[in-house]
Amino acid sequence: MNSMNIKKGDKVKVLAGKDKGKEGTILRSLPQKQRVVVEKVNIVKKALRPTQQNPQGGISSVEAPIHVSNVMLVCPSCKQPTRVSNKRDENGKKVRVCKKCGKDID
Ligand SMILES: [Zn+2]
Repeated sequence: MNSMNIKKGDKVKVLAGKDKGKEGTILRSLPQKQRVVVEKVNIVKKALRPTQQNPQGGISSVEAPIHVSNVMLVCPSCKQPTRVSNKRDENGKKVRVCKKCGKDID
């Protein structure tokens, strides 16, 4: 099972964890790990080693991946967090459909 119903650029709502309730855009998806990186969600501080460009070192904030089961797609049509079903369009292409309003998501 490598496929996920959400992908880069989708808007999602966070269902669990410290950022529960937040909405953000998916920056990266990691299908093998069933995880996604969501903009401004699950921020972790990372210590930076001193480098030539940044001799002091320092701390940077980065988004850590979260499990796909902790997010739900926000439908671009009805703006509701929704489950997604898949169907094939007239050309046989797989499209995602919002279970709330029935509109195509792609
Ligand atoms: Zn919808």
